[in-house]
This record gives sequence, structure tokens and C-alpha cells, in this order.
Amino acid sequence: MATLQEVLGDNVRAGELYEKLAGDWVRCYACGHCCPIPEGLPGVCKVRFNRGGTLYVPWGYAAGMQCDPIEKKPFFHAYPGALAYSFGMLGCDLHCAYCQNWVTSQALRDPAAVVPPQRVTPKEMVAEAVRAGAKAIVSTYNEPLITSEWAVAVFKQARAAGLATGYVSNGNGTPQVMEYLRPWVDLYKVDLKGFDDRRYRQLGGRLQPILDTIRRLHQMDFWVEIVTLLIPGFNDSDEELKRLTAFIAEVSPDIPWHVTAFHKDYKMTDPEDTTPEMLLRAAAIGKQAGLRYVYAGNIPGRVGDLENTRCPHCQTLLVERYGYFIRGYHLTAEGKCPSCGAQIPGRWEASFGGQITAYPFQTSRRNATELFKILSSSRC
Ligand code: SF4
Repeated sequence: MATLQEVLGDNVRAGELYEKLAGDWVRCYACGHCCPIPEGLPGVCKVRFNRGGTLYVPWGYAAGMQCDPIEKKPFFHAYPGALAYSFGMLGCDLHCAYCQNWVTSQALRDPAAVVPPQRVTPKEMVAEAVRAGAKAIVSTYNEPLITSEWAVAVFKQARAAGLATGYVSNGNGTPQVMEYLRPWVDLYKVDLKGFDDRRYRQLGGRLQPILDTIRRLHQMDFWVEIVTLLIPGFNDSDEELKRLTAFIAEVSPDIPWHVTAFHKDYKMTDPEDTTPEMLLRAAAIGKQAGLRYVYAGNIPGRVGDLENTRCPHCQTLLVERYGYFIRGYHLTAEGKCPSCGAQIPGRWEASFGGQITAYPFQTSRRNATELFKILSSSRC
């Protein structure tokens, strides 16, 4: 059987986010690394590579497809209760030691990360999303920026079918990829992993391109929500959280900030799991910074009011949640507070249409291992 590298090497097409350089080199613009890549080699992500002076990029497969509640992404100010059909490919431009999706993101770096890719077309994926009752389709599970050409192909079909579209991303973008995505992406979640460039370099990135991307996303009118996974001893000092939340508030106090609980995962097993008290402390810092919508995640029922959306002006309860479950929805058809009439930022439907699921579930695609065999045996 072909290796994963060989299978992925055949499931590609010429990319669009790059420029040709002298001597058959190329420069990729899909993420903030902006890799200059010589002929015959891949970029840092290992899934985009230079063959004969052309940059080839992932195409025609998914390494995971699942129906998630949109609150799991998490988007709290976009279509509450909606089903978000979620798909991912393989690879990442970072290598976080605590990655919760490492089996897909680190597939080409870590031999223990084994997820068979499944051949699929954008049409098939969108048809499945519509069948499942999805309101949105979201590129997630690996870093979507590095597979942006494929995401845009899927999102073009999705738009035609009336679906909203979204990215769940580390935010390591470039001006070029943001321009490329703007016509096709509605919702954009950025994982802001801390506010310390030294730590970001340990994860394989830099802080500045992520801050630049957050500013750009807001200026370009993507709907943006930001998540920080709070890791004890790694990114949770008062001083760092003050700088991080002051930055978000300066871009816009209306950007929702989710502070979520770490649990030991992948290679990072030293820090203790985040407690509800730690989340409450971080959330209080965010509120002091002026953020109007601060949420605490991953520990349902133990973070007081921090799963709910309240009107920042009159404190009326607008969306009541328990984990991913919507317990109550009280916004007006225009997305306003019913008590004081304040406009609540977000992407809202005219009314709450019920919730298909509060838990992730799989649709009935063929067994993944079987598909990997078909895919690898059909190489030409
Ligand atoms: S996506 Fe990023 S890491 Fe991958 S080749 Fe392009 S610039 Fe390099």
C-alpha cells in the first residue's frame, strides 16, 4: 500500500496562493510563514510543495467530516443552535505540544498521528451537509489556511446551497490569503494562544502575524470570535492576560473572547488541568479590559453566567447555554436586546429555529480505512 505521504502527494492540484521566484523557487502566501520553497521540497506545513517550479496544494480529500453544534467551534454570536458541518484535511503550519487535533494536524510530522484521508468532492460534502440540516460548513480539525484553495472550492458550492461558511484557525494569515478568502468566508475563529512571542516560537509561529490577521479580519468585516486555551503556567499570568485582552478590546470590545479549559493532551502532560476558578479569573481580566462578551468554555455548568450572552447595556439574558445546548433564546428578529433595543453584534437569524444536536455526530460515510485503500490503490 502507498504511504500517506505518497497518497497525499497525488491528491493535489496547482495552487493559487503563491508566486514564482527565480531558479524554480516559489513563495507561498497561504500562511504567515510565507515559505520560500526550492524545487522538490515542501513548505513548513509539509502539505504544499514545489514540483517543477509550481506550488502543489492539497485537493480532493478530507481527513475528517462531522456534524458539530456551532457552539463547539466555538461561535456564540453566529446562528445559535445551528448545525455546523465540519471538515478537515491534514497538516498544520504550527506544532503545538498540546494540540487537541494532533492526529490530523501532525499527520505528516508524527508517525503516531494516523488518520486515513477520504476522497470526496465539494459537491458531495455540501450535499451531505444539507442532508444533515446544516446551516454552516466549517473548515477545521487541521489548520485551514494551509488548505485554502480546497476550502474555497467547497465554500463556493456551499454558498450556492445557501450555507454560511467558516474557518477555525490559528490566525497565522497573510494579506494575500485574507483577500483570497474574503468573498467566501463568513465566520472566522482565531485561536490566540497567548501574548508572548517567545512562547509562540516554541509552537512554531510568531505572535505578530496573528495580531495583524486579527486586525485585518475585523477591518474586512469577517465575523470574528477569539479563543484562548488557558494553560496553567504557560499563558495564564495576570500580566499576559491583561495585555492579550487589552489588544482584543482595542481592535473591538465587541469581539467575543472565549477562554477555555486545558486538559492534558498529546505531548503536553505537565501542567495541571485548568480549573473553573482559573477560567473565572481570566474572564474577569477580560471584562476589566472592556470586552463586552466574555465566555468560559469546556467546563459546562461550573462557570456561573459565563456560558450565557447578556446585553452589555441592561444585562438582560439573551442566549442561555449549557455546554453546546441552547436553553433559551431571546434576541429580537433584528438581533437586538428585547429590553433596551441595543444591537448585539453577530450573525443572527430572524428567529431561533431549534437545535438539531448539542453533541457532535458522524454521518454515515463509508468506513474510513476502506476509503484509504480505495484511494491508495487508484493512484495513477
Ligand atoms: S502554508 Fe505556510 S507553511 Fe505551508 S508552504 Fe505555505 S507558507 Fe509555508
